[in-house]
Amino acid sequence: MHVEQLASDLEGAVERGEIHAVFQPQFDFVSGQIVAVEALARWNHPLAGAVSPLDFIPIAERTSLIHRLGRFMIERAFACATSLDAQGTPVEVSVNVSAAQLETLEFYDRLDHDLATTTLPKYAVTIEITESLPILDVPSIAYRLQQLRGAGLGISIDDYGTGHSSLTQLDRVPATELKLDQSLVRDTSPEVTTLIRSVIELAHHRSIRIVAEGVETYDQLERMRELGCDRAQGYLLAMPLTSDELGRVLAG
Ligand code: C2E
Ligand code: CA
Ligand code: CA
Repeated sequence: MHVEQLASDLEGAVERGEIHAVFQPQFDFVSGQIVAVEALARWNHPLAGAVSPLDFIPIAERTSLIHRLGRFMIERAFACATSLDAQGTPVEVSVNVSAAQLETLEFYDRLDHDLATTTLPKYAVTIEITESLPILDVPSIAYRLQQLRGAGLGISIDDYGTGHSSLTQLDRVPATELKLDQSLVRDTSPEVTTLIRSVIELAHHRSIRIVAEGVETYDQLERMRELGCDRAQGYLLAMPLTSDELGRVLAG
């Protein structure tokens, strides 16, 4: 299906109920338990079927649709975490946030409101920031994120090890978490191993948690444990699940 067609179909997709959220569990290395989930957007196109977020998120980002979609995902994430809390199986929840969202005041206002009115503990919600890191050089955005951080929200640096991530970012971003990209998790070269060790050391020195992403094999899991990661996420451990499925898994 053509990009132009997808772009026009994406309009109103949230309202038509074609978008939903799934939640991929993250496991704590110490307890072995699910302690958090990452919300991931899914689009069930009426004709094309499942469209990957790798295809539709960039389209949404080029249009203003990312604001509607991003808001929907935050609502679903709060709803999921609240219902798990009510069930007696609380877990933290992370939501991916695009650069365009961080550039609007409405994003912060609504999140402030969500955090002020939720029954969830504030640390239970984390936003994941990735390609948007350069915009943190904009003082007003850095300030707003600091404010959210101050209000208790978690801030995660996503896809660490790809693109323009560097250790100095840890100074600029009020991060609570860093996610090692699966390209690093897979790479067993001495250079990458040394890099991971120094990232973890620096992060832990600042009380920043490390999550290993895209863990697909036991070897990768054991290596990430030995290197000192705090949490792991990946197909080896659990696939993304609907909120109902997650509730059943956690209820045991
Ligand atoms: P991401 O934030 O890095 O999310 C992790 C992706 O890795 C997800 O792909 C997940 O399903 C996949 N994954 C998890 N475990 C494994 C594994 O063991 N091996 C491999 N190969 N992949 C694994 P997904 O759901 O297709 O999402 C792709 C990307 O789309 C996300 O990458 C994120 O950048 C973006 N995205 C998804 N949902 C949202 C959203 O609500 N808002 C925004 N702004 N971006 C989103
Ligand atoms: Ca992410
Ligand atoms: Ca990632």
